[in-house]
Amino acid sequence: MYFGSVKFFKHLILLVLGFAFLTLTILVIVFVTLWRVEKTRAVTVTAQYEELAARDELYIPANVTDQELYDALKKHGASTADILKMLQSDDPAALTELYKEQIFGLNGTVPGYVTDYPDLYVSGPAEFVAPASKTVYLTFDDGPSANTPLVLSILEKYNIKATFFMSVPEGNTESSRKWIQQVAQAGHTIGIHSNSHNYSEVYQSVDSYLQDLKNTSDLIESASGKKPDILRFPGGSINNYNRFIYKQLISEITRRGYVYYDWNVSGEDASTSATWTSIYNNVLRGMDGKDSAVVLLHDSSDKRRTVTVLEDLILALQEDGYQFAPLTNEVRPVVFSYLD
Ligand code: ZN
Repeated sequence: MYFGSVKFFKHLILLVLGFAFLTLTILVIVFVTLWRVEKTRAVTVTAQYEELAARDELYIPANVTDQELYDALKKHGASTADILKMLQSDDPAALTELYKEQIFGLNGTVPGYVTDYPDLYVSGPAEFVAPASKTVYLTFDDGPSANTPLVLSILEKYNIKATFFMSVPEGNTESSRKWIQQVAQAGHTIGIHSNSHNYSEVYQSVDSYLQDLKNTSDLIESASGKKPDILRFPGGSINNYNRFIYKQLISEITRRGYVYYDWNVSGEDASTSATWTSIYNNVLRGMDGKDSAVVLLHDSSDKRRTVTVLEDLILALQEDGYQFAPLTNEVRPVVFSYLD
């Protein structure tokens, strides 16, 4: 009798074990396959990303790696198709919307920063006026530093008023306070630039930007007695670090009454390869054909070159028929493109 015999039970056990083994094997195969498919997708996305990045068609923050971005989007439930769509988008507005939705979940909700920093408001201009004709708006970023008084004395010699977008890097030191006061007393415009000037930190979120803005504003106000009402974003209003939040940043600071200024001529004096000649030529060539311009220069501590070229620049620009003026918040700003 086979059924019920010892042999039968042996076979039954073997059969059950066999099935269990088979099921386990199938499950392992399924999981490995799924995992590999997902991995292949990730690799495909990465390859596409690299190709687009190489063609300079991507504006992903420089501090975010493609894998981090992919993981972040994935974590927030984006499909691979959506991620590809986002990576390939040539419409930054749509891209930002998608990003906002995916990463920050801001879709349809009022962001918390709107009610934060209640004293971070200024009265904006009633309306903008066109920049004055044949006028150069010299702007000095990243100061004040020991170079600031040197810049001031050159400007004073030619009775020129300019604009200083301050970084106040050393914080509330006595020297910084003194330099800020000197700039204010000489009648120049002081604008906000940044407190930390650390792109990754400042542009981590709209909140971190506003915190940095407030720190800088407070330092300037306490030293100069005047609350600044114009600003320049570190790295300009659209850059690799703020590309996903630049629209929120701009709309938020504008809502608070601030006017921001980019530039349309740069001395490129922040470049490590800058020389006296390169700064001089960059500004003069940049001015070519322009009726007015906002010129970017720096007065931070390592920009002594800028000080040495400034007087000759002023003379050359005067020779070309330009006058100089400080920015005030009603001057229609020069801003980087793809905003409208
Ligand atoms: Zn700067």
